[in-house]
Amino acid sequence: MKFLELAHLYEKLENTSSYIAMREILSDFFKKTQKEELENAAYLTLGQIASQYADVNLGMADKMAVKAIAMAGGENEKEVLQQFKKLGDIGKTAEKHAGKGTLTVKTVFETLHKIAQAEGGQSRDKKIKLLAGLLSQASPLEARYLARIVLGDLRLGVGDKTILDALATAYAHKEARKELEHAYNICPDIGIIARTLAHGGINSIKKIGVEVGVPIQSMLCQRVKNIEEIEHKIGYPVIVEEKYDGERVQVHKGKKIKLYSRRLEDITLQFPDIVQAIKKAVKGNCVLDSEVMPVDAKGNLLPFQILMQRRRKYDIQEYIKKVPVALFVFDVLYVNGKSLIREKYSKRYAILKRIVKQTGQIKLALQKTCKDSDCIEDLFNKTVEHGGEGVVIKNLHGPYDAGARGWNWVKWKPEYVKGLRDTFDLVVVGAYHGKGRRAGTYGALLCAVYDAKKDKFLTFCKLGSGFKDKELFALLNKFKKITHKPARLEIAKTIMPDVWFDPRFVVEVTGAEITKSPNHTAGYALRFPRFLRWREKKPEQATTLKEILGF
Ligand code: ATP
Repeated sequence: MKFLELAHLYEKLENTSSYIAMREILSDFFKKTQKEELENAAYLTLGQIASQYADVNLGMADKMAVKAIAMAGGENEKEVLQQFKKLGDIGKTAEKHAGKGTLTVKTVFETLHKIAQAEGGQSRDKKIKLLAGLLSQASPLEARYLARIVLGDLRLGVGDKTILDALATAYAHKEARKELEHAYNICPDIGIIARTLAHGGINSIKKIGVEVGVPIQSMLCQRVKNIEEIEHKIGYPVIVEEKYDGERVQVHKGKKIKLYSRRLEDITLQFPDIVQAIKKAVKGNCVLDSEVMPVDAKGNLLPFQILMQRRRKYDIQEYIKKVPVALFVFDVLYVNGKSLIREKYSKRYAILKRIVKQTGQIKLALQKTCKDSDCIEDLFNKTVEHGGEGVVIKNLHGPYDAGARGWNWVKWKPEYVKGLRDTFDLVVVGAYHGKGRRAGTYGALLCAVYDAKKDKFLTFCKLGSGFKDKELFALLNKFKKITHKPARLEIAKTIMPDVWFDPRFVVEVTGAEITKSPNHTAGYALRFPRFLRWREKKPEQATTLKEILGF
């Protein structure tokens, strides 16, 4: 195909502001394009010469393009630069100095790849010469778009979704667009999608699965307004998993190990320590989904901001020691030749457990199977103890929805806990030992309401969040431990605390909502309670059962 045909297409697209018209122009063009040429035409129309994850960069700056234009036309570089400054468009500048011939798409594509590959001391000159060579053979219209592609400034208003739409209309039917989009989420490479569709039709597209070395769009989480919705949206039992606040990492382990970010950038070079650790801990060829976290010497999680220091190209070895990290793996998408994304989560997780041997640096995400909201809240409180970001609740039967935000993963974070308008004054009757950052103090306090009729204390929530670090450690001296359950306390076996307290202190607490609970003797639980302050009240002046029943 002549590059001029593409240049004419780009001119038409550039002058079109309607999306529908744009899609029609593109699909008409794709219909006429030979199957072998479709792949390159699709890349170039996005201003690319390879998929974005392939990390192929032309490495050309404005001045280099100006030099190449001057060289191609045998003109004075300063004059071309002046003209470029005046026009503000490298395309229009190149057009004024173009040659007479025409190029083929194949030549353009191959030469642009040579430009990208030029490395080392002479690479600048080499790139300029290669581009000048192309421009000298190009007609004005070809030069316009060639120069714009080279500087990443094609400005056609065409996105990858536009191309998918046009391909669907050209090679299948409009409804096939969903299939194409799904395939593109699994294989975000417009060239491969175009080639597969052209040669094998929509049936081949449906067979596209995960492959080592081709990063897939990450699955995302949906939100719920309150935790009770989980029962209807997913249905118990569910897997509840710690939500790590680090950086998403997709691990591709084949002959080599590659790490990709959520934006599908290759971040392998930032984490050579993780690459080594994966070699030791993970069996076979596979694709894993995970989150990398900064940790201290004991393996405790540290805040996300610290991880930013690992986003670097230089001094990597030094920063491996300065900012140690661990990888928390939570899914497997491919194993030894088999794409697993259409398998249900419980099956994927069973495979994950088989292939990952946990080490100091490679761990499986903390998780638990839950049948009710109390259980979800328990793990949530644990993650808050770690300084964690909350939990992700996962459907055991769900596939891996590449690029989608569906009901198979639901996130729940402390900041979703909006708070009821009223606060509660609760009696502290026991506590649970803290772990991680809270080792040495309490992780949560067991709190109760007062049943005035029976003169009993009934448990109502476990309070773990809202404390400042100083307040947390002050808890140790605040309470007087007793060796047995307080006589007036009624408690279910499922929530026995590690230590008992004489019911003396009253704490003011806010929370997200009140829901029925079989685990709390009040019959109800305050969800996601947060500490507000200590009250100078007697335990019998605490919020009563009657008051919460009236809510
Ligand atoms: P947020 O700002 O809440 O992270 P987001 O838009 O970045 O939102 P979400 O879809 O809301 O992304 O949340 C999913 C993110 O949570 C993932 O991208 C991943 O990086 C992170 N994450 C941490 N732990 C887990 C886990 N156990 N399972 C799935 N995702 C996890």
